[in-house]
Amino acid sequence: MSFKVLLNEDEMPRQWYNIAADLPTPMQPPLGPDGNPVKAEDLAPVFPMNIIEQEVSQERWIDIPEEVLQKLCMWRPSPLRRAVNLEKALGTPAKIYYKDEGVSPAGSHKPNSAVPQAYYNKQFGIEKITTETGAGQWGSALAFACALFGIQCKVYMVRISFDQKPFRKMMMNVWGADCVASPSTQTQAGRDVLAKHPDTPGSLGIAISEAVEEAVSDPRGKTRYALGSVLNHVLLHQTIIGLEAKKQLQKVGIGKPDIVIGCAGGGSNFAGIAFPFMLDKINGADIEIYPVEPTSCPTLTRAPFAYDHGDVARMTPLLPMYTLGREFVSPPIHAGGLRYHGMAPLVSQTVVEGLATPKAFDQLHCYESALLWARTEGFIPAPETSHAIACAIEEAKKAKEEGREKTILFSWSGHGLMDLVGYAKFMEGQLIDFPLPEEDLRESLKSLEGLPKPVAAKSGKW
Ligand SMILES: *Cc1c(COP(=O)(O)O)cnc(C)c1O
Repeated sequence: MSFKVLLNEDEMPRQWYNIAADLPTPMQPPLGPDGNPVKAEDLAPVFPMNIIEQEVSQERWIDIPEEVLQKLCMWRPSPLRRAVNLEKALGTPAKIYYKDEGVSPAGSHKPNSAVPQAYYNKQFGIEKITTETGAGQWGSALAFACALFGIQCKVYMVRISFDQKPFRKMMMNVWGADCVASPSTQTQAGRDVLAKHPDTPGSLGIAISEAVEEAVSDPRGKTRYALGSVLNHVLLHQTIIGLEAKKQLQKVGIGKPDIVIGCAGGGSNFAGIAFPFMLDKINGADIEIYPVEPTSCPTLTRAPFAYDHGDVARMTPLLPMYTLGREFVSPPIHAGGLRYHGMAPLVSQTVVEGLATPKAFDQLHCYESALLWARTEGFIPAPETSHAIACAIEEAKKAKEEGREKTILFSWSGHGLMDLVGYAKFMEGQLIDFPLPEEDLRESLKSLEGLPKPVAAKSGKW
């Protein structure tokens, strides 16, 4: 029996997998302010053209540049571990495998996309990248990646997290990035908000507006913006997780897992573990695929598939996605990375198609699962990751009832060593569940009124 399955560096995948090439029904296009599909040129002030080309690519396999492979080798291939002690504690015949993305320098899967994004910007002659961050996972990943390529990095961090969670800001500073609280006085968008609401805690929507404004207003044209999830190219970069996992499972004689699980905020780590296995499912394999979200931010389980903006200020195109409405403000759960109002269009389409079956779990149940995990497997998971763990435990218990030796695979998206305050509050009994009330959902969905409606096209095969 193997406790961990390792790949050599020369066994690391050389290409990313682009599921857009294999979707049974094509994606609905993003729409611009005039209601027409967005053209590549429209995005050019915001993203470098080489990234825009990836964003719209229909190629099934896309080469990973040699220089990116070399940087990824700093921590990849990541281990595939088997949760043997948890299996014993549960008395389950199921085998639980997890892909440990907590081994990256920033502690999560996010550097898998931050590194190629920094690389492509560098290739395109960009000298500075701006971005937003909530709790700081993405900001720290991008700060690390920019340090590797000698690019300046400016992070707009949501004010309340900036004040309450100083450690990730310090990580960004260590890697040489500039991190400011948003709203700031450095942009028009920030000054406008501060004039009206001087005491605002800030939001991701405001921070996005500030980061985009700074990128597009560089008179030299040497600044671009980067996003840490949701978009096609980010999901593409994350497929290295599932592609490695496939090789690792084969090494221990497992042709295919029965169940694949990932927590889903914007959808990137879920897509990363799941899309390479969805290719097999599209080709006939019998695999259950579960994206997992919090009941307080139930985008996939309770919201409609609709056109919506990615940010409050409506600076982004309209994207076809499951959305709670761009003005949705999530209750203050500790899984900061799972509080986004929308879901990646590619993930949304696979749910419309029936290739993935979303699930939602309550905060307290997720923390209980995380404690059981830490006390059996040792590693302390991020609060986001605990959602995938809760689902894996539920499936392992089902396998026990059914007496079936299923293989469960999930993405262990990051460690929780920067999130211990949430654990402390849970253990002191200070946390509560926040299932989203029906009235709040209805209220939030009002912001979708008057927008174009996408067709929820599906083949009917799943
Ligand atoms: C950001 C984050 C998530 C959620 O983001 P996705 O884009 O849905 O992957 C999940 N887990 C961790 C540890 C994160 O940092």
